[in-house]
Amino acid sequence: MSRNHELFARAQKTIPGGVNSPVRAFRSVGGTPCFIKRALGPHFWDADGKRYVDYIGSWGPMILGHLDAQVLAAVETALTHGFSFGTPTEAEIEIAEEICKLVPSIEQVRLVCSGTEATMSALRLARGFTKRQRIIKFEGCYHGHADSLLIKAGSGLLSFGQPTSAGVPDTVAQHTTVLEYNNLEQLSETFASIGAEIAAVIVEPIAGNMNLVRGAPTFLQKLRELCTQHGALLIFDEVMSGFRVALGGAQALYNITPDLTCLGKIIGGGMPAAAFGGRREIMAHLAPLGAVYQAGTLAGNPLAVAAGLATLKRLQAPNFYEQLQTQTARLTEGLAQAARAAGLAFSTDHIGGMFGLYFTARPPTCLAEVANCNLEHFNAFFHHMLAAGFYFAPSAYEAGFVSITHDAAVIDATLTAARAAFSALND
Ligand code: PMP
Repeated sequence: MSRNHELFARAQKTIPGGVNSPVRAFRSVGGTPCFIKRALGPHFWDADGKRYVDYIGSWGPMILGHLDAQVLAAVETALTHGFSFGTPTEAEIEIAEEICKLVPSIEQVRLVCSGTEATMSALRLARGFTKRQRIIKFEGCYHGHADSLLIKAGSGLLSFGQPTSAGVPDTVAQHTTVLEYNNLEQLSETFASIGAEIAAVIVEPIAGNMNLVRGAPTFLQKLRELCTQHGALLIFDEVMSGFRVALGGAQALYNITPDLTCLGKIIGGGMPAAAFGGRREIMAHLAPLGAVYQAGTLAGNPLAVAAGLATLKRLQAPNFYEQLQTQTARLTEGLAQAARAAGLAFSTDHIGGMFGLYFTARPPTCLAEVANCNLEHFNAFFHHMLAAGFYFAPSAYEAGFVSITHDAAVIDATLTAARAAFSALND
C-alpha cells in the first residue's frame, strides 16, 4: 500500500472524509488524494516522494510559486518577532496602503482570515449601509461558505452535484436571489421588479468556481449601472481574480468600479489572510466607527501580513503579468492544439495566471454550458496527468493556476504528457 493510501485511510478515522476542505477529497474524479509533504517553485512532492507540477497553487495563492525567497525571508523575520499580538501593528498599515494603491476602488480595507469572512462581512456591511436585506448572486459563483451564499453555489458544491447546502435556514435563503451568470435580460427584469429591495449584488467578475467563465463586459457594465440606479451596492468578489488576472484585479481589466471588493488567496501569499474594502463612506459603517459589527482574533496576523506584503511587492516587478500571461498562454494554447490534433472537442481560456480547460468545443459562458462539458473525458485526463506527475484541480468545475515559476520547460513537459493523455482518450 502506498503511503498516500495509508494516510488517507488513517485520516478518514478522525477527519470527515479525510480532508479539511471538500474538493481535496477527489470525490468527483475518484481515487486517493495526494498527501503533500513539501513544495518548491512549480512543484510539490507527496507522501510517497513523487513529484508533481502543481497547477492548483493552493487554489490560487501561490502566484510566485512555492517558497519564494523574498516571501520566505519576510516570514522568517516576522516570526522571530512573535506570532500574534492582538494589537495593531505597522505592517497592517503597510499592507492596507499597498492594497488601496493597487486597487483604487478600495479607499479603506479591513483584513480578515479567509475569503468566506470577507464576503460574509461585505454582505453584512452592504445590508447595514443600505438598510435593505435582499442580495443577488449568480449561479455557479462561489463566495465561501456563509449561509446566505451557499445557494446554487460553485466549487465543491458543483463537483458533488449538490449546489445548495443543507443546513441553510429558509429564513436566510429567502433573502438570496440567484440569477444566471451573463444573462443580461434576467438581470434587467429582476432589477425592474425588485430593485428597491436589493442591498447588494455579489459577483465573481471572472468566475473561477465553475471552471473559468468570463463575465461579459456588457453584463458587468449593466450590473454597475443597475446597482447605481437602484441604490444597491456592487460587490466584486475578487478573492480569486484579485492580483491573479492583473495587478489591479478584474476591475482594472474591465474598468468597472465596484462599491466593495473582497480579496483573499494572493494577499496572504499562502497564509490565512483576506480582506474586504471599498468606498470610505461605506467602510465607515463598520465597528468601531459604525454599527455593523465585524472582528477577528487573528485578523491581520503578523506572519500572514508579512507573507502577503512581500507577495504584493514582488507582483509589481516590471513585466510580471506579461510574463505570467505568456506562460499561461503557452500552456492553454499548447493544450488546445494537442487536443485538436487528437480530434477531441476541447477548448481553453486564460486570463493572467488563471486558466480554464473545457471538454467542449467552445468556452462556456454560464453554468448550464459548463455542465455540458464531457466529464468522463475530464476525469480520464485528470488521472492520466496525475499519474504522469501533473496535478490539475480534481474537478471539472475549478479553474487552474499557473505561477511565475512555471517556465517554458515545465509547461512543455506538461504538453508532452497531455498529448499522450489526449490520445489515450480516443482509444
Ligand atoms: N470567493 C471566491 C471567489 C473564492 O474562490 C473563494 C475560495 N475558493 C472564496 C470566496 C472563499 O474563500 P476561503 O476559502 O478563503 O474562505
